[in-house]
Amino acid sequence: MTTPRYAVFGNPIAHSRSPQIHRLFAKQEGTYIEYRRITADIDRNSFACAIETFFGAGANGANVTVPFKEYAFDLADEHSDRAQTAGAANTLIALPNGKLRADNTDGAGLVCDLQNHCDTDLNGAKVLLLGAGGAARGVISPLLAAGARLTLANRSHDKALALAQRFDIEALPFDVLNGGFDIVINATSGSLHGNMPAVPSAVFTDCRLAYDMAYGEESTIFMDFATQNGAAATADGLGMLVCQAAESYRLWRGFSPATAEVIDALRHRRLPLPVS
Ligand code: NDP
Repeated sequence: MTTPRYAVFGNPIAHSRSPQIHRLFAKQEGTYIEYRRITADIDRNSFACAIETFFGAGANGANVTVPFKEYAFDLADEHSDRAQTAGAANTLIALPNGKLRADNTDGAGLVCDLQNHCDTDLNGAKVLLLGAGGAARGVISPLLAAGARLTLANRSHDKALALAQRFDIEALPFDVLNGGFDIVINATSGSLHGNMPAVPSAVFTDCRLAYDMAYGEESTIFMDFATQNGAAATADGLGMLVCQAAESYRLWRGFSPATAEVIDALRHRRLPLPVS
């Protein structure tokens, strides 16, 4: 039988933990899959060529990360509602008729991590979402569906306003934000560059959980700042990463991997050898 083939496309991509995550999922399923990292040049045509070559050779599915999520959405033949709402895709699925279907599992991944691994009840929770980029766009609808009462804030307020209007939620400029949020989610890329979004420290006063979608270090500048200013708990985005990957795996293979043990393995670096 041919080994099922998957990959993650991004640029840069060498740091990606997706191969390890999917190898652990395959182990749970009791099967073997090939899962590679593929770097594409940062232009629409090069990405389209790389995808065409990959799927033309019989691959089964792909994950797509920065900066290609919008391109992946555009070149797919079919789109899930989730991808449509986000206008971006992190998952491509090869259909039996040769077409490509786009989905977006980022929002499902965040909600899964908050509810299952951070013990957070989203129903009725007042949530402040910082950022208005691709990640924020993908998580608004799933957060609302889980019952969260959302306020959006972004460094460039006009972007937050435009996004908030689409989802009929509140948007506030950073400088007028105050306390009263149960959960504060950092969907900006600030932590990747050691930058704290310039929000007043008061936003963390009553905060039960300050969640940073960034991951990689033990803590982030956002998590540290939140703790110093009253947040009861913090979490990084590693759980979201694993949960969105699990949802991609389910879409590809019809098998739902258990996520807690994979998060634990990554956190404590109990990892299998990297997939070549
Ligand atoms: P984008 O480039 O699409 O958006 C970046 C956002 O960050 C914009 O809203 C931008 O604001 C804001 N921003 C950047 N720097 C600062 C700063 N110094 N202060 C305040 N705001 C800032 O990125 P993505 O939306 O794709 O990704 C955002 C984050 O989410 C990244 O850290 C990424 O790694 C993480 N992520 C994690 C996932 C996971 O599975 N854990 C999945 C997807 C993303 P402005 O509009 O003003 O420029």
